Amino acid sequence: MSKDILSARADFPILTQTVNDLPLVYLDNAATTQKPQSVIDAISHYYSTTNANIHRGNHTLAVQATQAYEGVRKKVASYLNASSPDQIIFTRGTTESVNLVAYSFGQAFVKEGDEIIVSQLEHHSNYVPWELMCQRQGATFRVIPFDENGELNLQDFRELLTDKTRLVAINHVSNSLGTVNPIEEIVRIAHSANVPVLVDGAQAVQHLPHDVQALDADFYAFSGHKMYAPMGVGVLYGKKEWLEKMPPFQSGGEMIDEVTPTRVTFNVLPYKFEAGTPNVADVIGLGAAIDYINQFDFAQLQAYEEDLLTYGLDLLKAIPGLKIYGNPKHRSAILPFNVEGIQHYDLGILLDAKGIAVRTGQHCTQPIMDALQIPGTVRASLALYNTREDLDALAHGIQRVIRLIKR
Ligand code: PLP
Repeated sequence: MSKDILSARADFPILTQTVNDLPLVYLDNAATTQKPQSVIDAISHYYSTTNANIHRGNHTLAVQATQAYEGVRKKVASYLNASSPDQIIFTRGTTESVNLVAYSFGQAFVKEGDEIIVSQLEHHSNYVPWELMCQRQGATFRVIPFDENGELNLQDFRELLTDKTRLVAINHVSNSLGTVNPIEEIVRIAHSANVPVLVDGAQAVQHLPHDVQALDADFYAFSGHKMYAPMGVGVLYGKKEWLEKMPPFQSGGEMIDEVTPTRVTFNVLPYKFEAGTPNVADVIGLGAAIDYINQFDFAQLQAYEEDLLTYGLDLLKAIPGLKIYGNPKHRSAILPFNVEGIQHYDLGILLDAKGIAVRTGQHCTQPIMDALQIPGTVRASLALYNTREDLDALAHGIQRVIRLIKR
């Protein structure tokens, strides 16, 4: 039987804390999620019982650590429904995963006059690496704009796609507006022009179905820390047809096959892209986070979070002077807003005084803020342990701040 979602909160020790003498209401999950005890224990257990450097050792601990690390690769492959664990590359996070592809794919396949397409809804992590790669390779950087609802117009996308396009990089869910992009359709359109697609799944992999084969994504990137795992570990999934042709991103130990003064050959996948000692303990933590999520019925979890989002949006919409940004047909886990007459930063500080953690600012998406012509927003964002009470506390907190400021 699957685990009851309402029991999740008790698994996260940090959530029992008070902040500023009030119970913590944690609504900054798009920045990072909290960690369940099982993840904290898995890391501690690894260091207490198993720690050794992996792959190269033949003593007991090295073998056990290697098995544990490679076991998580299989777990991630299964979580993403990848056809093989060799397609799973461990990185530091989404940012490193995207940079890996931008450097390696760029070097192999992008030349002067070529084009790369991203969207205006991207986090800087899936924008700047492509912009800089285009500068290095002499390629043109194209951006699909978003409309008044915060959605991408697929006709604009079709028009940007040319025989010079080498890759499309798009997030599944916008971290600033919560827009769920029609990613299956974007992949279909790109593939009809023989263009591969990198999907930034940083805000999707924990909330929405995550089947890379069904999606047919060529690359899929995510961060562990946004899905209840530790910081410092992430994943790049790639189709073998691309990964095998791409040169290594970083070089050093593990990624080599033979090394001589005149010739270096490379290890097989995925090791070709994992130079140096990896972050074994946090990979173990990622495995524990996947086990944690897998206890729930994912469809139920999704329905629970959707209900929570609708509840929160309705509460916020009822507050006079509060403006919610974007009105996409499908939104996930993000409530972006401002209150008339109150700076987003001040509102964040005043909510914090009430124990409510939200994020304020540009959220690493200056292109979105520039398009909206605002300096930033307040962003509340959800995770599976949030409850309606958290959103009641947020709405109540905002109303109290409004009363205080407008007195
Ligand atoms: N992409 C999206 C959509 C994000 O929300 C984030 C982080 O907020 C990133 C990429 C970058 O993730 P990280 O900083 O974990 O590499």
